[in-house]
Parts: sequence; C-alpha cells; structure tokens
Amino acid sequence: MAAIDRVIVDYGHGGMIDGEYQTPGSKQYHFTEPEEFTIYEGVFNRGTASKFMSLLVRAGVETYDCVSGRYVVDSIDTVSLEQADISLSQRVANANRENKSGSTIFVSIHANAIGMDIKGPSIDVRGASVYVYRASGLSGDIANNLLSEYGNTELRPRKVVENQSFYVLRKTAMPALLSENGFFVNLDEAKYLMSEAGQWDIARAHYDSIKDLLDLTPNIV
Ligand SMILES: [Zn+2]
Repeated sequence: MAAIDRVIVDYGHGGMIDGEYQTPGSKQYHFTEPEEFTIYEGVFNRGTASKFMSLLVRAGVETYDCVSGRYVVDSIDTVSLEQADISLSQRVANANRENKSGSTIFVSIHANAIGMDIKGPSIDVRGASVYVYRASGLSGDIANNLLSEYGNTELRPRKVVENQSFYVLRKTAMPALLSENGFFVNLDEAKYLMSEAGQWDIARAHYDSIKDLLDLTPNIV
C-alpha cells in the first residue's frame, strides 16, 4: 500500500474574528436548557484541526492547511489558523494544487447538527460519523480506522457513510474523508467539543487513524 507523506487539512466554516463569528446561519447553537451554553462549529473545527496539524508536524509529516493556503512548518503546541471563511471551491483548488499523486490525503473536520435552529434545548442525538465519496481504497480504509479510533474518545462511533457527495469529497483529486465529530446540538457533546481535552482526543483519533500509513522514513544521508 502506498505510504502517505502529505496530509491536507480542511476545517469547516469560519472562525472568530474580534469576537464575531464568521459563519452566520446554522453552524452554531445556543442552548437554552438544561443550561445556557453556546457553541460555534467553526471554532471547534479550528481548535481540533490545529491540534491534528500539530501532531502531524511533530511527526514530520508534510502538512498543508488548505484554508489559509500554506504549509505548517513548525508547531510548539497548537497551530494558529485562518479564521475567515473561504469558499469550498477555493479550499478544493488549494488542495488539488498541492496534491502529490499517490501519497496525499485530504481530511476535513466538522461537527454535526440536525435541523436549522440556532437556539433551543439540548437534542438527544449523539456520535461521530465519517463520510467518504469513494469507499474503496485508502479513503475507505482510513474512514474505518477513524471510526474505531473514536472508541478512544467520548464520542460514540456511529458509521462510515459511503458515496457521500459533499463538494470537498467529490472535487478533491486525492483520497478524502470528512469527519462529523459528534452533534453540537447535544449539550454533553458540545461541551466535550469545546474543551481542550475533547479536541485533543479527537485530534489524536484522526492522527492514529493514519499513523500506520504514514511514510516516516527519516531522511538520513
Ligand atoms: Zn460543518
């Protein structure tokens, strides 16, 4: 099996600039009961992608951030990320430009919701799913690895969903997967997603799902 030596990381939606969420609309939830709590999906996506990228960089993997359009060159602890939202077509164009055929994968990090309400009670839905457009080959293998790695997190593994026609899965030229890391409309999961410990657990699950496929041969001459 081909070894992976480049990972392209995508983190969905916008983040926070000067206290202002960059993705108005449904990618947020304001709990009204059993207690007040607010989550912005893009903030979770960034926190987790940052930690995932820092694990990759520490392991010596070429790590490309397709939102800010740059390679991550060093990481002390976490990586600072672009907070603005950019279009899906720009994310994909960046990714495809940096595709090294046969040894690159694309990983997009998200969290799930049901319904379009941005405010309300905690909803009784849970768990993590992994989406792929092409189920065969590397994307399917990694998706299944990731699903079992969720066993090391507080997220219940739900399923691998095949033939999912998300734009970033359909248009990327390399093996690609998109993770929906729990439901941010569930208060327990939302609190876990917004915690540093939860983000590290989920970042590590992503890293562990590919670590046996990484080409980490040291360049010793
Ligand atoms: Zn999303």
